[in-house]
Amino acid sequence: ILVFASCLSGFGLYSLVHKARKHRHSMVYHLKNAITKDEFSIVFQPKIRLSDSMPVGVEALVRWDSHALGVVRPDVFIEVAEKYGLIRKITHRVIDLSMAQMQATLDAKPDFTLSINLSIQDLTDLSLLPFILAKAKQYKIQHEQLVFEITERSAGDSVSLSDIVKQYTEAGISISLDDFGTGYSNLAWLGHLDASEIKVDKSFTQSIGTDSINQTMLDAIFSLLQRLNVVRVFEGVETQEQADYILQYCPQAIVQGWLYAKPMPIDQLQSYLSQTTNGLGR
Ligand code: C2E
Ligand code: MG
Ligand code: MG
Ligand code: MG
Repeated sequence: ILVFASCLSGFGLYSLVHKARKHRHSMVYHLKNAITKDEFSIVFQPKIRLSDSMPVGVEALVRWDSHALGVVRPDVFIEVAEKYGLIRKITHRVIDLSMAQMQATLDAKPDFTLSINLSIQDLTDLSLLPFILAKAKQYKIQHEQLVFEITERSAGDSVSLSDIVKQYTEAGISISLDDFGTGYSNLAWLGHLDASEIKVDKSFTQSIGTDSINQTMLDAIFSLLQRLNVVRVFEGVETQEQADYILQYCPQAIVQGWLYAKPMPIDQLQSYLSQTTNGLGR
């Protein structure tokens, strides 16, 4: 009976692994066709200056509504795209779509910024910066209105990235270190990369007011951030308590989160902005 049971569970595990692999392969297959089938769209989440609650920019977030698979979350398919060499095409598509949709808003508000997420593979793609500059020209967007957020999902060489980052900042484009407080060598990054912005990960924001162990880390991060000459963004702000804490320890902070606004399509964003900038907002 024992042998029989272990055979069965062995087979169950095998079929699970097999299923997962098959699933990933079908996702790769459908991802390859997603661009030509126009299955990607962009939503924009406002970035709010905490001291006066004014929206100062947006972050573009990609959405994939696959005809074959339904809605797939970006943190799932971006990782697959990175692994199977499909990320660059997706990034180009995201840049084109989000710049085209934000063109009018950026033109009307010269201090407003558009943030776009990149993966490390994008940053080391030497054709990306020329592509970005050409798109900025096409849509008449000032370089100073563009921010690119990079997430470190795998251990990498921060020293070799610093030259690339320099090319962006010399062109007037800002680089933001996303998901700060997670990942592999954030402190090494801070030392080497000429980033203009740091985004503290939502896991830290959301540990505010809880008795989780991250409280000590949070205090340390706040005091570290206070010494750096960068724009400080806190993502994932969901409660007033979190906002009050951030305001107390980092009065210059920019915040992003469901307490203020969820990511939304461009038409909703435009009516949101016309309300908030007329003083009708929170
Ligand atoms: P991220 O860049 O750190 O984006 C923040 C994520 O937190 C977004 O999830 C956003 O919708 C979510 N969020 C915002 N406010 C709150 C809040 O108050 N509470 C909670 N719980 N969540 C909040 P989303 O859109 O699912 O994106 C997940 C990740 O996928 C992003 O994390 C980013 O790493 C990646 N991603 C999204 N779009 C792109 C893209 O166009 N290119 C690349 N390379 N990566 C992207
Ligand atoms: Mg981001
Ligand atoms: Mg983030
Ligand atoms: Mg994140």
